[in-house]
Amino acid sequence: MSSIIQLLPDHVANQIAAGEVVQRPASVVKELLENAVDAGATDIKLIIKDAGKSLVQVIDNGKGMSVTDSRLCFERHATSKIRQAEDLFSLHTKGFRGEALASIAAIAHVEMKTKQELDELGTHIIIEGSKFISQDPSVLPKGTSFAVKNLFFNIPARRNFLKSETVEFRHIVDEFQRVALAHPNIYFTMYHNGSEMFNLPNSNYRQRIVNVFSGKTNEKLVPIQEETEIVTIEGFVGKPEFAKKNRGEQFFFVNDRFIKSGYLHHAVMAAYEGLLPNGSQPTYFIYLNVPPNTIDINIHPTKTEIKFDDEHALYAILRSTIKHSLGQFNVAPVLDFDR
Ligand code: ADP
Ligand code: MG
Repeated sequence: MSSIIQLLPDHVANQIAAGEVVQRPASVVKELLENAVDAGATDIKLIIKDAGKSLVQVIDNGKGMSVTDSRLCFERHATSKIRQAEDLFSLHTKGFRGEALASIAAIAHVEMKTKQELDELGTHIIIEGSKFISQDPSVLPKGTSFAVKNLFFNIPARRNFLKSETVEFRHIVDEFQRVALAHPNIYFTMYHNGSEMFNLPNSNYRQRIVNVFSGKTNEKLVPIQEETEIVTIEGFVGKPEFAKKNRGEQFFFVNDRFIKSGYLHHAVMAAYEGLLPNGSQPTYFIYLNVPPNTIDINIHPTKTEIKFDDEHALYAILRSTIKHSLGQFNVAPVLDFDR
């Protein structure tokens, strides 16, 4: 009997993987911003056209790539960030899967310019649907520019599935804000169709939050702080009187990575017990730092969910930290006795 199983060609495998990593323009934004952060950039620019449908571009002043790496980075499972499986448990980078660029290049037109500080010339590469169109030496500043055009040009079903510009733009802003809030020490700017949307000079957590969400946020924030063996907590929670009807600004960051956690959210809500009008939601910006070997980030391709070794302890510490801060800042309701 002859065999009927075949290995898929790379460009097909890439396109399949892209389905997981790249759901919409905002996914490209996330991956490119994270690569810029991992490259040690201190200045990151995001340029968007038509809510990312025609252009998503990220320009960084990070370490750039050599000629060889500038080609290798588009290979699947090509990464400079881990070497062996054990490294997954001591991660200090956003990336590690080595899939984003291969995936993006499989389903878009990509133009990349990159140069390392000490190289005289940089490299300019054009790749479309996993096919290298050109590669030339080029006079460039230090850092990397990634322009992604015509996303899903070769997957019409995906392209048609994109939502309105308003919705796609909202997703992009969400991703931008998440990365910007996680890294206040980096200067971020964002432009949409030629207009500046955000200009965030490097600062601290509090100032970054205020710059992202407006000056009015400042007076609403109560600082939280705790340091234990398993976690360091800092950040801010909103005073109860500013609670909202919808879940507006609620952010968890673990080791500088935005994450979603229904479980930790529950811990926050438990800390507010009795302080919030029924059904209303507090604002919070909570930065957790844990030893990298106590979490597993590799449970989902977009890495927004992670697994903690000791969830229960984390829950208890977070809840009591917030409760304590809310109490200290005298924001518990003042009992108003009828006289
Ligand atoms: P990962 O981030 O998981 O390693 P990517 O596909 O996103 O995978 O990137 C592949 C590799 O390309 C990275 O490991 C890195 O070495 C290099 N790279 C990507 N973006 C940049 C950048 N902006 N500056 C410097 N190097 C980059
Ligand atoms: Mg990456």
